[in-house]
Amino acid sequence: MEISRTQSILVTGAAGFLGSHLCQALLAEGHSVVGVDNLSTGRMANLAELSGESRFDFVETDICQPFDVGKVGYVFNFASPASPADYARLGPETLYVGSYGTRHALEIARRHAAGFLHASTSECYGDPDVHPQNESYWGRVNPIGPRSVYDEAKRFSEALVMAFHRYHGVDTHLVRIFNTYGPRLQPTDGRVISNFMIQALLGEDLTVYGDGRQTRSFCFVSDLIDGILRLSRSSEHLPVNIGNPEEWTILECAREVLAVTGSQSKIRYEPLPQDDPMQRCPDISKAKRLLGWEPKIALRRGLELSLPYFRSSLAQAGRHARSGQS
Ligand code: UDP
Repeated sequence: MEISRTQSILVTGAAGFLGSHLCQALLAEGHSVVGVDNLSTGRMANLAELSGESRFDFVETDICQPFDVGKVGYVFNFASPASPADYARLGPETLYVGSYGTRHALEIARRHAAGFLHASTSECYGDPDVHPQNESYWGRVNPIGPRSVYDEAKRFSEALVMAFHRYHGVDTHLVRIFNTYGPRLQPTDGRVISNFMIQALLGEDLTVYGDGRQTRSFCFVSDLIDGILRLSRSSEHLPVNIGNPEEWTILECAREVLAVTGSQSKIRYEPLPQDDPMQRCPDISKAKRLLGWEPKIALRRGLELSLPYFRSSLAQAGRHARSGQS
C-alpha cells in the first residue's frame, strides 16, 4: 500500500533499536510520524536525533491499553522486549504486548483503513530442524520454556495479524526479522554483538556461551529497514524473512569483533542458555523475488560502522559513573 505523505504513520516501539531507525527512515522520506513507546526497554536517547524534527511526535504510553493517536495512514507495530535478557526479565509483559498490544495496534489500522506491518521474528522457527529457514517452515518451538514468552507472543501476534487480514480485510504484512545489529543496539541488553563489542573495547574476556559452534546470521540495521519499507509497500500478506544469509558461528563472530576492535581480549566459555537455537540462517529467496531486496553490508563492514557508537556509549557510561561518584 502506498503511504500518503499527508497522513501520519504510527510506529509502536519507537524508542527501541529498530523502531527508532524506522522512524528516522520514514521522516527522511518526508512522512509525519507518531512514535509510541512505554520505555520499558526503549530509550529516549535513541530518539535524540529526532527531537528537533517538527514532523515527529512522541507519545509515552503502553499499547497494552487501548490508545488513540488520531488518524493514521499506516501502522508499524514494533513494540516488544526483544533481547533474550529483556524478555526473560519481562516475561508476562512480553506476552501481553504480543497479544493485547498487537490487538490495539491492529484496531487502529482497522479503524482508519490503514496499512499494517508487524515486526515478527526468526524465533517463530524456534530451534529449527530445517536449514536455512524458509517462510513455509512451521518451526520447532518449546511452548513452555524460558524463551516461550517471546516466541509464543510473536507466534500469537502473527495469527492475530492474519485473522485481521482474513476476517476484517486489513492490509497487513508480516516481517520475520533475523538477528540485527548496528548503532543504538543497547550496550547492556545481553545480546551477542553488544556484549562482544563492549567486552572487546573494555579489554574484558568475550563470553562465548556453549562451545560457540551455534550459528547466527547478522543483518546490519540499514539493510533491514530497507527490506521492511519495501515489504510495507508490497501486496504480500504472508510472512517474509528479512535478514542476512551470511551465517557465522558465535566463535567466528567473536573473532570478527576482535579484528574490528583490535582488542587483545581472550575468549571465556560459559554455559549455553536453555533452548538456545543451534543454528539460524534465513532463506531470503522470497524477499529477493518479491521485493528485489538483498542485504549489502557484510558483518565486518557493519561492525566497523557500529564501532563509533559502542565507543561513545562507553565514554558516556564512564562520564555518568564519574559524575555519580562526585
Ligand atoms: N551469546 C554468546 N555470548 C554472549 C551473548 C550471546 O555466546 O555474551 C550467544 C547466544 O547463546 C546465542 C547467540 O550468541 O547462541 C545469539 O544470542 P543473542 O542473545 O544475541 O540473540 P538470539 O539469537 O539468541 O536471540
